[in-house]
Amino acid sequence: MAKIEGIFIYSDYPSKSLSIPKIINCLKEYGFSAQYRGDLFEFLPESKDEAFDLARRIAGTRILDITSPLDEIHEPTYEEIDLEISRLTGKGISLGVLYDGLWLQRMLYKNMAEKVPHEFRSGFIHLIFTSRLFGTYETGGSLTTLPLDPRPDRGYPRSQRYHARVVLTGIPSLISTSGIVEAPARPKEYYWLKASFMQAGKDLSELDLIYKGRFIEYDDSRITSVLSSYVLQAIFYEMTGNPFCDNPSCCLYNSHWQEEILKVQLGGELCEEHRDMIKSFS
Ligand SMILES: [Zn+2]
Repeated sequence: MAKIEGIFIYSDYPSKSLSIPKIINCLKEYGFSAQYRGDLFEFLPESKDEAFDLARRIAGTRILDITSPLDEIHEPTYEEIDLEISRLTGKGISLGVLYDGLWLQRMLYKNMAEKVPHEFRSGFIHLIFTSRLFGTYETGGSLTTLPLDPRPDRGYPRSQRYHARVVLTGIPSLISTSGIVEAPARPKEYYWLKASFMQAGKDLSELDLIYKGRFIEYDDSRITSVLSSYVLQAIFYEMTGNPFCDNPSCCLYNSHWQEEILKVQLGGELCEEHRDMIKSFS
C-alpha cells in the first residue's frame, strides 16, 4: 500500500462553524500531519490578471439550467465575474448559486498543478473547504433538497439533473459546508409538511424549528465533526479508489439522509477493516 506524502488544506470561505485546526487534529490522531495553506484565492493567483482569470473561470462553472449538463465552461458577464471576485474575497455570499463540481475541480486542478506541480502526483492529498454549493449531473443517485417532490404519487424524482453534493473526491477534493446542509435529504415528513406550509403561506423557519437538531444547519456546531468523516472519504478515495464502506456504522458509509449523517458521520468511527487500512497509509 502506498503511503500518504502530504495533505494540504485550503479554504474558500467555508461556514464559520468549521474549525480547520480541529480537522487537522483529527487527522493527527490517525498519524497524518496536514498543512493548512490558508485562503485559496490568496494562495493561487500570482498577479491581478491571474486573479481575474481565476474568478472568470470559476464564474464560468455556474450551472445555468439544472436539467442539462454543462458541456464546457461558459463565458460569464463582467457582472458575474465581479460577483465571483467578491465571493473569492469573502465579501459576497454564494447562496443560491450551484456550480458544476467536475468543471470546478478540473479548473482548480489545472491552476493548482501549475503552481505546485511536484505535489500533484500520487500520495498527495489536496482538500478545499468551500461554502460554494456544487453538484454533479446524474440520475437521482442521491436525494437532495433541491427540487424534491414529496407527493406520494410522484415519489422522489429520478430524472437526469444536477444533484447537490457534500464532497467531490479527487484532486483536489472539494468539501462544501453548504452541501452538507442542502444535499442530504431531511426526514421524509419534513417535505410533507414543507408542501403544506408553502400552500398555507406559512413561514418555513417555523418548520425548521420543529425539526431543529435533526439536520445540519449553515452555522451548525456539528459541521467540523461531520466533515472530518468526509475528509476520510477523500483520503480513502485517493489511496484505494473507493471512498465508501457498506457497513452502515462506518463513517465512510455513503449516507443520503441527514439522519444517517447525524448517526455515522457525526460519530466519525471507522469500522475495524478501515481502521486497519488507514494505519497503513501513514
Ligand atoms: Zn468501513
